[in-house]
Amino acid sequence: MMVIMKPEATLDQVSRVLQEAGNNGLEVRVSRNDTRTVIGLTGCKREDLFKRLSEFPGVEEVVLMSHPFKLASREFRPQKSVFCLGGVNIGGEKVVVMAGPCAVENRTMLLETACAVKEAGASFLRGGAFKPRTSPYSFQGLGEKGLDYLQEAKQKTGLPVVTEVMSPEKIIRVAEVADILQVGTRNMQNYSLLEAVGRANRPVLLKRGMMATVEEFLTAAEYILSNGGSRVILCERGIRTFEKMTRNTLDVAAVPLLQNLSHLPVCVDPSHAGGMDSLVIPLAKAAVAAGADALIVEVHPQPKKALSDGKQSLTPDKFRRMMKELSAVAGAVGRHI
Ligand code: PEP
Ligand code: MN
Repeated sequence: MMVIMKPEATLDQVSRVLQEAGNNGLEVRVSRNDTRTVIGLTGCKREDLFKRLSEFPGVEEVVLMSHPFKLASREFRPQKSVFCLGGVNIGGEKVVVMAGPCAVENRTMLLETACAVKEAGASFLRGGAFKPRTSPYSFQGLGEKGLDYLQEAKQKTGLPVVTEVMSPEKIIRVAEVADILQVGTRNMQNYSLLEAVGRANRPVLLKRGMMATVEEFLTAAEYILSNGGSRVILCERGIRTFEKMTRNTLDVAAVPLLQNLSHLPVCVDPSHAGGMDSLVIPLAKAAVAAGADALIVEVHPQPKKALSDGKQSLTPDKFRRMMKELSAVAGAVGRHI
């Protein structure tokens, strides 16, 4: 059960709800966002309590919840969320394309890629400055220097930036450049990071854990939302299955499933899903056909020389082709690119 307080509810009115919950032996979790207090209650679904609490002063609405994720659910917010980030609406009619290198490798390649993806119609520049690499001996990203280059590319192209944050201490610094903070697949269940990005209330692109169920994915989003975050984009990036020929298996069904369960916009990453450039365009088309609100795609001017994820990176030429071909698919499902 979730008790949504009115924006003008007083502390005393909140306390009365908490007291009533305590008297009924319920477990309580209070979260406060910009405008209101929301009280999650677990342990009982008694109809009489539901009715009684609805009439408490200061209470706007009491909602019965059937899932462990509440603020992320359609029960809490029936209409789809649309976020305006960096001047771009995510969750609206336009399928938002975020593109750029896996990692910021140097200034020249970043500026070159940023200009190319902008010219081809991308709405966001992606690129990792802090890279969560499986091996400690692989290129770990340029760190702070990478953020400076992203800032320069943003100024030069006007493209807003999405880039990964790996630790709570770096949130403020990364958020100076990032319009959207990316939380990667390896950190989807790093609950202290999720709480910290929630408290920072910055927009987040939350990638699905490579072995996470849809429910675990949505409860991870719930950590951000219940700590004050209000703008989370869910990103399906492929999950591990028995199939070894592809890097991961794109869970296309997760796109409409997430949209049925949650009001949050859904992004798809066809690059990490397939793991090879020849699969990126077909998977991107499948994602758009399935209703994805956004795509995040890796593009590199010389994929063979890339310091990370070259195999799955599109050249600027292929990226241009992808944008053209996607336009027809988007049109077929009532969207545009
Ligand atoms: C990335 O976007 O470069 C990345 C590391 O993604 P993921 O966390 O999905 O592996
Ligand atoms: Mn990558």
